[in-house]
Amino acid sequence: MEMRLLGLLVVLLVAVVIWLTVQRSQRRRGGPVQRPVNGRVVPPPPEEIPIEDSESFDVWGFRDTQFSVNSGGEVVVEGDRYPLSGKPIPSLFPWFQKQIEVPLDVSDRRPANYGADIPPSRAAESQLAELGALLAEDRCSVDEEERLRHGHGHTQEEMYAIKFGALPRVPDVVVWPIDEEEVIALIDHAKTSDFVLIPYGGGTNVTDALRCPPDEKRIIVSVDMRRMNRILWIDEQNRMACIQAGAIGRQIIDQLADYGFTMGHEPDSVEFSTLGGWISTHASGMKKNRYGNIEDIILDVRVVSPNGVLERSGVAPREAVGVDPRRWMLGSEGGFGIITQAIVRLFPLPEVQEYGSVLFPTFEQGVGFMYDLAQTDGVPASVRLVDNQQFQFGAALKPAPSGWGRFLGKVQKAFVTKGLGFDVNKMVACTLVFEGGREEVRRQEETVYRIASKHGGYKAGPENGRRGYQLTFSIAYIRDFVMNHWVLAESFETSMAWDRILPLCEKVKARVRKEHEARGLPGKPFISCRVTQLYPTGVCVYFYMAFYYKGVERPEHVFAEMERAARSEILAAGGSLSHHHGIGKHRQQFLPEIMSPAILDWHQKTKDSIDPQNVFGGSNQGLGSSPDAKP
Ligand SMILES: Cc1cc2nc3c(=O)[nH]c(=O)nc-3n(C[C@H](O)[C@H](O)[C@H](O)COP(=O)(O)OP(=O)(O)OC[C@H]3O[C@@H](n4cnc5c(N)ncnc54)[C@H](O)[C@@H]3O)c2cc1C
Repeated sequence: MEMRLLGLLVVLLVAVVIWLTVQRSQRRRGGPVQRPVNGRVVPPPPEEIPIEDSESFDVWGFRDTQFSVNSGGEVVVEGDRYPLSGKPIPSLFPWFQKQIEVPLDVSDRRPANYGADIPPSRAAESQLAELGALLAEDRCSVDEEERLRHGHGHTQEEMYAIKFGALPRVPDVVVWPIDEEEVIALIDHAKTSDFVLIPYGGGTNVTDALRCPPDEKRIIVSVDMRRMNRILWIDEQNRMACIQAGAIGRQIIDQLADYGFTMGHEPDSVEFSTLGGWISTHASGMKKNRYGNIEDIILDVRVVSPNGVLERSGVAPREAVGVDPRRWMLGSEGGFGIITQAIVRLFPLPEVQEYGSVLFPTFEQGVGFMYDLAQTDGVPASVRLVDNQQFQFGAALKPAPSGWGRFLGKVQKAFVTKGLGFDVNKMVACTLVFEGGREEVRRQEETVYRIASKHGGYKAGPENGRRGYQLTFSIAYIRDFVMNHWVLAESFETSMAWDRILPLCEKVKARVRKEHEARGLPGKPFISCRVTQLYPTGVCVYFYMAFYYKGVERPEHVFAEMERAARSEILAAGGSLSHHHGIGKHRQQFLPEIMSPAILDWHQKTKDSIDPQNVFGGSNQGLGSSPDAKP
């Protein structure tokens, strides 16, 4: 009798736990998971972002996370969001100061004057009233901080300006449309009222794409799309979803996962960037080997342009229907209109996800491995190869190990250096993410490790792979931290054919060192690279550049000049102007070097005919600046 009662109690307890879990998950997602009607599921709207997940305005990322120095003088990552969070990282500063050959003092912190000198809004009461008539009042703001945040992305120069200088021009008004009718109304109004519209996704671009033309006389309205963030439908059978353009990456991932799907697009900025931003910057995600780049995932795009709505009667897996101007939205950087929604391909959530890592004696051997791997059909979802500087950086970012961790770390290091003869100052690391069916992943692992061993690789285990891969998210916070400690740091990317990789990487590193020396900057620069995306014909490479700037005049300009010099070197060595970050205003000066006058003319004429009043006057790629907006 007692046993039966106990059994009943256990069953009841399990039922309560299941019910509570379901309730919690539904609350998180904003409502119950829907079942299909006419073959399509209509998910509930995502829940409003909770306050604890809100974003910082003055630095990268979530408000609860930042690098700081604890009372013991050690660097720590505040919060508990990432694997690195909450743990002291004692080696970071000592290692970095050896690299740049400047003694760094963790207590020497440059105070920021964020929020100073925000240009006042130029919008008159009557103009605000006009906008207010198109959108409810709480979706139209002249708040200073909102306007400042909407006037920049995440280039080094922009982030330096908001902390230690000022942006000369920011939007006069920020609006948050909630549906396509409001977007249409805004564009119609802008055409007749001489407003400039700049679409805003997550503000994560690294191309100055949101930076306002300083001499623009018209009222600049930033159109923040993030309240158009619904998954409108999911077609489970045909593996497609229609998603509004303002949906943020992490929300898309969470919601699609409820239905057993992913769209597979995961840029490093996925926590904050949006679908519309990905399309208009022509983005690429970390798992592109499996799921493709954004252009492979997008099946259909809906756009409101000054010339009307661009829409199609249906969607098909592939079509040959002449030139489809909607494809021009890829890379349009806000210049042609506002993307309101897109139909994307869906993939079932992978049956398994495994991490892996391999150490190679040299970068050359690592690249050799990548080449052979790229020619097979066994390329994992993500494969990244870091050079020796970044390998060491990753090691310096490790929290202090204790007990067994310290012992095992030492044993592994001794094995790799003494046993295998790897040189700590030459060895490199490759991190791997495998996704797919169990058998598929097993085959990929077999291919990867077989090829790796041919190139002298040492299998370094899943934990190093997981750590290396996930480090990406916390690393994004470092740039703002070191900026306050007199170090400017930023990354820039390119793509190139296989035969260019090694000479190009060497030339760019040498050029950065030369530029640094020529300017008499303190110490040495940090310059490093990693291979991030693979193609049968070549790769994408990221460079990371940093230098100490105390005592340097206008350091943000010096940094930009050096980056431009590095870019010239990249182009001369056969690299591309950008693999996925785009052009914006940051790289537009190089366009005439890579495109014939006829291409640039087509582009400008297209812009002129679609948007003769230059309503979308963000001036990216040098397009459509109104004559009096030119400096
Ligand atoms: C830490 C970090 C990591 C990053 N990692 C990656 C990466 O792995 N891969 C990658 O590709 N990029 C990466 N980026 C760059 C950036 O995240 C991408 O360019 C991203 O696609 C920008 O999206 P967003 O929503 O933030 O757009 P925003 O920055 O808001 O806007 C970018 C441009 O798109 C336009 N735009 C935005 N929404 C719309 C819309 N609905 N209609 C029309 N135009 C629109 C804007 O006007 C602007 O010109 C990274 C950036 C950072 C800071």
